[in-house]
Amino acid sequence: MKIGVLALQGDFREHRLALEKLGVETVEVRLAEDLEGLEGLILPGGESTTMGKLMTDYDMLEPLRAFGAAYAMWGTCAGAILLSQNVGREQPLLKLMDTELERNAFGRQIESFEIDLSVPFLEPQKPDYHATFIRGPIFKRVFGRAKPLMTLPDGTIVAAQQGHLLATSFHPELTDDLRFHRYFLELAKRPPEA
Ligand code: GLN
Repeated sequence: MKIGVLALQGDFREHRLALEKLGVETVEVRLAEDLEGLEGLILPGGESTTMGKLMTDYDMLEPLRAFGAAYAMWGTCAGAILLSQNVGREQPLLKLMDTELERNAFGRQIESFEIDLSVPFLEPQKPDYHATFIRGPIFKRVFGRAKPLMTLPDGTIVAAQQGHLLATSFHPELTDDLRFHRYFLELAKRPPEA
């Protein structure tokens, strides 16, 4: 299995390392042609406006949309923003998932926090997942084909899935816990959608 990590900006190296620990061949994707032969793609954390601008400059918006229509894609933090339909302001988005996000939703003063969350869909389900939030977005609306996957204790949605598309507000690539990367690989093993 060959999985790409979008490498325009952000923490793509950490995703590569996590995938390599699982014995997966990885490719850094910088141009549309790098998508050739991949079974899945991760959009890393970073700065979504910058990544969107670079995607536009390198003519990658349409190729990435076409890839995500067929193959597994997972966005962490800024990547989750790029997968969404709407973030309430103008910026290039892939609009692949039926989600509306609010950027930097936890405010400036609390720029980063960690919390243990229950993950009944992961294997193994226990221990709870130690999620790291760094100026992350929240999911304000998950509609249509998308389904909420994880919430904070107050009900705020912080992860969603839509078939082979996955989005998390937090950063599994910054922890040693590989359960999320394994979960994504299961999505990538599904046959491509027509
Ligand atoms: N705040 C960033 C954005 O809005 C996301 C932060 C992150 O990826 N850690 O794009």
